[in-house]
Amino acid sequence: MKTVDHEEFNRLIQVANLKPRLKKELKFENSTIELPDDWSEFELISIADRTGDKGILLLQPKETLFIAPYELTRRIIDSSTGRDRAIICDFCYTWQPGSNAASITFLDTATKHSVGFLCCSDLACSQHVRTATKASLRSRAHLRENLSNDERVSRLKSRLLKKIEQLHLQPIT
Ligand SMILES: [Zn+2]
Repeated sequence: MKTVDHEEFNRLIQVANLKPRLKKELKFENSTIELPDDWSEFELISIADRTGDKGILLLQPKETLFIAPYELTRRIIDSSTGRDRAIICDFCYTWQPGSNAASITFLDTATKHSVGFLCCSDLACSQHVRTATKASLRSRAHLRENLSNDERVSRLKSRLLKKIEQLHLQPIT
């Protein structure tokens, strides 16, 4: 995606029609401090609040940028065993053990219903599909999937495009 600096970020969140309270709580510097200066190898980046459990996703799987407010619930408890459940991320298809599993909730902007997905709790899906994380190596071993990084990146892009459509997100310019 295109690289966004703090000034541009402030402009984008004005255009994006977010709740004033959420806008105030977003921590841009904290959320981006560990990212490289160039964001071209990212399809999604989360800018979160202090807790990391609420924020917005910047999504740019193709040319167009989208912003989606979200809430994250870390760890998914299996009701029958009472233990943390492992998941496969709905965005990047990375297998994550219970300690790295989360569910993420968005608002469908057309129906105002909330829509949930399973996801990596670090939302580092762009790095996972590029095999740049320990979690991605663990997932490769677990799922025994034989895809190249390029194929994983395209799969992430097409999955994000489907979610963007499903949530009726409007492009941000
Ligand atoms: Zn993921």
